[in-house]
Amino acid sequence: MADRYLSFAGTAPGRFLTRRLGLPQPAELIRRSPERPGFSGELLLLTAGKPDLDAELTPVLARTGLRPGADSPVAVVLDATGVRDVEALGEVHAALHPVVRSVAASGRIVVLGAPLDRTDHHQYAAQQALEGFVRSLGKEAGRGRTVNLVRLAGDARSAESTLRFLLSPRSAYVSGQVIEVGAGPVAVPDDWERPLAGRTALVTGAARGIGAAVAETLARDGARVVVLDVPAARAEARAVAERLGGEALALDITEADAGARIADALPAGLDVLVHNAGITRDRRLVNMPAERWGSVLDVNLGSVLRTTDALLERGAVNAGGRIVGTASIAGIAGNAGQTNYGASKAGIVGLVRGLAPRALAEHGVTVNAVAPGFIETRMTASIPLFIREAGRRMNSLGQGGTPGDVAETVGWLAPRGGGADHGQVVRVCGQSLLGA
Ligand code: NAD
Repeated sequence: MADRYLSFAGTAPGRFLTRRLGLPQPAELIRRSPERPGFSGELLLLTAGKPDLDAELTPVLARTGLRPGADSPVAVVLDATGVRDVEALGEVHAALHPVVRSVAASGRIVVLGAPLDRTDHHQYAAQQALEGFVRSLGKEAGRGRTVNLVRLAGDARSAESTLRFLLSPRSAYVSGQVIEVGAGPVAVPDDWERPLAGRTALVTGAARGIGAAVAETLARDGARVVVLDVPAARAEARAVAERLGGEALALDITEADAGARIADALPAGLDVLVHNAGITRDRRLVNMPAERWGSVLDVNLGSVLRTTDALLERGAVNAGGRIVGTASIAGIAGNAGQTNYGASKAGIVGLVRGLAPRALAEHGVTVNAVAPGFIETRMTASIPLFIREAGRRMNSLGQGGTPGDVAETVGWLAPRGGGADHGQVVRVCGQSLLGA
């Protein structure tokens, strides 16, 4: 369902009217395309506090392809890792206050922070302050600009894939996020354009919508993809697989032996497992029969737990493998009419947090999730008009995301990056006003 308001607001009369009436003014976002795989332009590196980061930061940023400059930067990176007290927060203001206005439309502001120090409440307070700062600036930035905070436990190289993602058009709909990057060993791909070359990725629910976009992105990044969907969607799944040079697997993920059947279909094992299949069966709790509750919990959470356990126990996820779940902001903020869905998606957040440390220690596998906000798909096209319009506008970018926005985020989490980006739930929601 086309977003006509977004198209109208992009025209000269639309801009005039929306400004005069005080209506939202969403900007057309710059997204990755074959013609524009990355940004070109200037990157401005600033510091606040006494920077803690190593000398690697400058070369890491140089490898993004952006050139140092301050005229109209497409990206601003503020190294605030050394901010340890309230006084140093003044340097955050001093660094960004003069430059924010000059950041290009659809530009990026990334603040680098340090892990919160439980032994020093002044550092803790100052670093926590950065979260409120970033989230507030994200709401002010406008013109499609995004603002994110990356908390770095290790050196700058461990954040390279995260910085490349955030400083590129791939992260167009990711804003107001706090991403923690651990100090684990770093695996640098031979080719950053095809980091999944030689890897096998399975995406559930990939016959259409977000799952099909994820499969497409992972194939573009070099993976051999397996497109799993219910037998009723066999033809669509096969069409997606054929287009991507992959294979289709007709399987209802709620089948008790789904994990075993996936493992049997992939004797050489899996490198990337994306749990994307999901359903909604909305009703307020007072009107919700047990069947609606049960089917949503089973597709969205129960089957994800069962297949993950079965595949890990059989050793079917190769060492260095990646598991990416699909949560939702409904699971973070809650949503009327979606107690079943909200519960299932919050369960995915729990699965990530509960499994991540053990999966890495016992299987060498990392676990993360994406939490989409309002994404333009068949699922959201069926929402009544006014609720749909509200969903689209109630975020800092004033518009819905695309399946490609979620897919690019999965594409960032899918390659081996060592233990660096791990145990994260990353919202792809344009900084939705719902939830933290
Ligand atoms: P969609 O309905 O367009 O596609 C879901 C796919 O999953 C379908 O192809 C369907 O056949 C498949 N599927 C359903 N049950 C299955 C089962 N038992 N076994 C195998 N496949 C099954 O949905 P979408 O909008 O593309 O959403 C994809 C994921 O993203 C879901 O987990 C959804 O909850 C989540 N999500 C979507 C949005 C949004 O705005 N669209 C927002 C937040 C989260």
